[in-house]
Amino acid sequence: MVRYHIDTIPVWDALHAKGECLLCMLRRKTEHMLADRYLGASVMEPDTRIRVNQKGFCPTHHRMLYDRQNRLGHALMMLSHLKVVRQKLKAEAPAVGDKTRPAGGLLSFKRRPLAATDSAATPLGQLAIGCVLCDTLEENMGRYAYTVLHLWKTDASFREAFAASPGVCIPDAGLLWQMAQEHLSGQPLATFQQALLKLLEDSLARLEEELEWFTLKFDYRNNDKPWGTSRDALERTITKLRGWSVGTDPGRD
Ligand SMILES: [Zn+2]
Ligand SMILES: [Zn+2]
Repeated sequence: MVRYHIDTIPVWDALHAKGECLLCMLRRKTEHMLADRYLGASVMEPDTRIRVNQKGFCPTHHRMLYDRQNRLGHALMMLSHLKVVRQKLKAEAPAVGDKTRPAGGLLSFKRRPLAATDSAATPLGQLAIGCVLCDTLEENMGRYAYTVLHLWKTDASFREAFAASPGVCIPDAGLLWQMAQEHLSGQPLATFQQALLKLLEDSLARLEEELEWFTLKFDYRNNDKPWGTSRDALERTITKLRGWSVGTDPGRD
């Protein structure tokens, strides 16, 4: 309960922004903040350095780091991480023909059958999974989801504003649902789940209408008719169904 105070203002701000998902907005803002931070002073902190060296970054977050045009900062992180990956590879795979060393995990690994997508389950695949930014992001999103629930439980004005907003995307509704089962019980849990489902159903019905009008606007007979709210219906529908991925970045002002 102590930690929630610091998070209420960003949650309220994201709710007032009235995007298709307040948690997607907070996620993007946090991602940008973290990407800036990894390329800034925080990477000099020993703790952060060790975690970056061990885990590295996923492709999505490499793109975000790369877009920041700090090639030297990015390269220095990768140089340290590369050294750790080389050590790990060496530990897994003793030099070919070196009879003095026992076969590492790589040579003794014989799990079958292996699906084409199962690379991460192999010792080599293990060298290329994990992301220090994803990990930190997930911790932050857990805290934000918790704050949404806490506000919903304790603040009637938040319940009202949440019910009148577009709410959250389907994946983040899942996150809230799971979090609610851990932190709420009895009537408050049931009421929250009903409110969440109603919000989702109403949003999907609204988006269906908006998206349909978006498609009808391609008919020349509708040329002169107003777009209404449908101009960005495709981007918003995608956000609602899968979380933000295309269109105006909700994490950028
Ligand atoms: Zn979302
Ligand atoms: Zn990542």
